[in-house]
Amino acid sequence: MKPDKIVRELKRIWGHMTGLFQAQRMGISASNHIRITENKRSLRIDVDGRVRLRHLEIDLCKGCNLRCKQCTHLSPYRSGYIPATRLAEWFTHWSRKIIPEEVYLLGGEPLLHPELDRVILDSKQIWNRSSLRIVSNGILFSKVSDKVLDAIRTTRIQVILSRHCTDKEGKTTFRNGLKRLDAAGIPYTVRNSYRHWFRQHRENDDGRPIPFDSDAEKAWKICRSKYCVSLAGNRLYKCSILAAVREGVHEGVLDNAWKTILSYQPIEPNASADEILEHLRCDAVAECRICPETVELVTPKQISFELLKRKVA
Ligand code: SF4
Ligand code: SF4
Repeated sequence: MKPDKIVRELKRIWGHMTGLFQAQRMGISASNHIRITENKRSLRIDVDGRVRLRHLEIDLCKGCNLRCKQCTHLSPYRSGYIPATRLAEWFTHWSRKIIPEEVYLLGGEPLLHPELDRVILDSKQIWNRSSLRIVSNGILFSKVSDKVLDAIRTTRIQVILSRHCTDKEGKTTFRNGLKRLDAAGIPYTVRNSYRHWFRQHRENDDGRPIPFDSDAEKAWKICRSKYCVSLAGNRLYKCSILAAVREGVHEGVLDNAWKTILSYQPIEPNASADEILEHLRCDAVAECRICPETVELVTPKQISFELLKRKVA
């Protein structure tokens, strides 16, 4: 290796180590520190005037076929999907303003979307400078239409399967989904999400979700979704949780306790590049208080369907 390259590499390692020490002093974990550094590296205005960012996610479906108790998108309480034409309009609009490195299609459960093949093909065409990913709980892959598998193959969208079920039936259905993907020659990545369930909200006596009332700074420091910029209702949100809560409140499916976050103003469709950058660069916002300030791992659990029907109806 050339001497100047060695010096550059040593400086990079030194910068990284110094950052880690600083993060430790501030009470931020190493993985969180890496996320913050990566995000700062990505966030900038490109030569063509668009804002570069690391991560963009879109909930294609608001609801889910599972009812995970600690769902960060509050999908067990929501239902419906965003039509493909509307998604294409949002994507076209925002693709003129931002360039995400990675675009995640998720939900809820994206495989519930009746026009998923169309959405995947449109996404590939519109987000043509981004790496495209679809995240599913995998349960429905055994039944998904050939059209969707063809769209996945054609676009080479990365498939990420997030394993949430630990019961026998859930495991079998998940395995059947993997077999279908194997047979179709589609590569995938499996995340054992059930091992990392942490409490994202509290519950009242009826089992309904209620937000935390944390110190916003502390909640932001331990937050794993701090840079999961989310597109919902043709607006950009700092994170998927703020988007899901705001949409859920407007849909009337979340209790009054969640309304405190309505003070949060997402990025409007007519925002300038400077305004987008300023919004995404800010760290904690007051509304981060709805998130936990300590990490509490919990046992994976599905909400009783009966209880859910009774409370949401
Ligand atoms: S599978 Fe994912 S989106 Fe569906 S309820 Fe569980 S955590 Fe939420
Ligand atoms: S509201 Fe704040 S703490 Fe909660 S997920 Fe979003 S960025 Fe993180």
